[in-house]
Amino acid sequence: MTKTPGHHLDEEALLGYASGSLGEAESVLVATHLALCPTCRERTSTYEAWGGAVLSQIEPSRLADDALSKTMARLSQTEASEPPCGQAAFDHATVMTLPRPLRDYVGGNLDSLPWKSRGRGVKELPIEIGDGSVRASLLRIRPGETIPQHTHEGVESTLVLKGAFSDETGTYARGDVAIATADHDHAPVADSAEECICFAVIEGPLRFTGPIGRVLNLFVRS
Ligand SMILES: [Zn+2]
Repeated sequence: MTKTPGHHLDEEALLGYASGSLGEAESVLVATHLALCPTCRERTSTYEAWGGAVLSQIEPSRLADDALSKTMARLSQTEASEPPCGQAAFDHATVMTLPRPLRDYVGGNLDSLPWKSRGRGVKELPIEIGDGSVRASLLRIRPGETIPQHTHEGVESTLVLKGAFSDETGTYARGDVAIATADHDHAPVADSAEECICFAVIEGPLRFTGPIGRVLNLFVRS
């Protein structure tokens, strides 16, 4: 459970997060990976320290110190499991699966969310993040099932939260991030041991391409 992820975010994503230049959905994906990945947390705090040093050259140093300490406080909160005052308590399975940054957006327990069926053994929960220009969803795949072959116009980033899946680029387990680009037509398969839950952020519309996929496209547009 404490295994360190083997598939990380690239420097561009971590720098973008550290500098606050990512969109909201991408920021949630990065923050969720950071909650599970000490390696990327360390790289990000280095970038933030650089950013703080640069800021301190051009701004009063109190401001830079404050910005950095707020960021560090935010990062150190990511593994906390107790909800802050006034927020709903989550059940154990939900707390163990969804790190804090994502849990707050999902807003409910995994088994009581309005999942939409996306074909045999695959469910999707669209999550409203930011202005909606990027598609963000939780995916829940039964053990051994395949997500229908699909392609997309932008980059698809998938973070595994429970179980594992494999495609032709490798196997991805909890904390791992898989990046698929527009020219990548793939069909991930969930490992057979347990269900797989992922958080996916897709820039640009998703189009299913297999024979079942053509039917699924009708649902995705809903
Ligand atoms: Zn990482």
